[in-house]
Amino acid sequence: MEHVVASPARSATDLPEKESRFSNTFLRLKKHLERKVGEAIGDYGMIADGDVVMVCISGGKDSFTLLSILLALRERAPVDFRIVAMNLDQKQPGFPDEILPAYFESIGVEYKIVTENTYAIVKDKIPEGKTTCSLCSRLRRGIIYRTAKELGATKIALGHHRDDMIETLFLNMFFGGKIKSMPPKLVSDDGENVVIRPLAYCAEKDIERFARGMEYPIIPCNLCGSQENAQRKHIKTMLRDWDTRFPGRIVSIATALKNVVPSHLADSSLFDFRNVSSGTKVDQGDIVFDTPELPVEQPDASAIPIGIWRS
Ligand code: SF4
Repeated sequence: MEHVVASPARSATDLPEKESRFSNTFLRLKKHLERKVGEAIGDYGMIADGDVVMVCISGGKDSFTLLSILLALRERAPVDFRIVAMNLDQKQPGFPDEILPAYFESIGVEYKIVTENTYAIVKDKIPEGKTTCSLCSRLRRGIIYRTAKELGATKIALGHHRDDMIETLFLNMFFGGKIKSMPPKLVSDDGENVVIRPLAYCAEKDIERFARGMEYPIIPCNLCGSQENAQRKHIKTMLRDWDTRFPGRIVSIATALKNVVPSHLADSSLFDFRNVSSGTKVDQGDIVFDTPELPVEQPDASAIPIGIWRS
């Protein structure tokens, strides 16, 4: 069963009353997140004039934050675009299906709730004790793509943030033998859906603080009974530990994702090592006999040039 509700038009800056109580520190945090999202949108060309952006809302802190920030940015964006919040109710036991419609209506955003019992399918197909996440996310992805087409959405916005991207990078390096993360923007395998991650420059700890201040009606993420992947948990702990003990390290890793030097790695599909000979120009030169300069400079993504999306 599905339903689409167009909520009454309302200004995105006309925020619920509780925001008027926000402290200056909180308002600075909000501005900071808006700036980071604006930078990511501008850098990767995430949103264009006339886009219909379907924002996937799980009921967690990240997707609630994404929706709020996009609504606020739309007010002063240089382009005109529509936002439709979308939630997939997977019929997990105890899922409070009244919370999100009530929230969407309270902030006046157009929304669509899709109800599909993927929980029953997963329980039926996966033997007890085996991990259910891969089938569950495959099913979810198919439904999200189908819904985007039905809505005429030109972009699908997901709430993954900077730290999700870094965790994925390490997971792939530690267990997949690949330097690969989550891209800020990608096209689905069928070539028909463009997925964007506008929180790509946002730190999880900022999102956590923001979500607390906003008092979102968070829906627990463990209703399916599945445990968070143990390896991802270890990596999260490792990164949080680094962030405490070595300030700047996480920012540097995030910046590194934007500064890849193929000629100084070892992937022949990205750089033609075989045909390097005297006279070949190599990006960033010969560092064979140089020790890297330490400590590594900690460039901040906010230092990149100001574009039209930035506030
Ligand atoms: S944690 Fe639960 S809801 Fe999330 S992907 Fe895994 S099985 Fe699905």
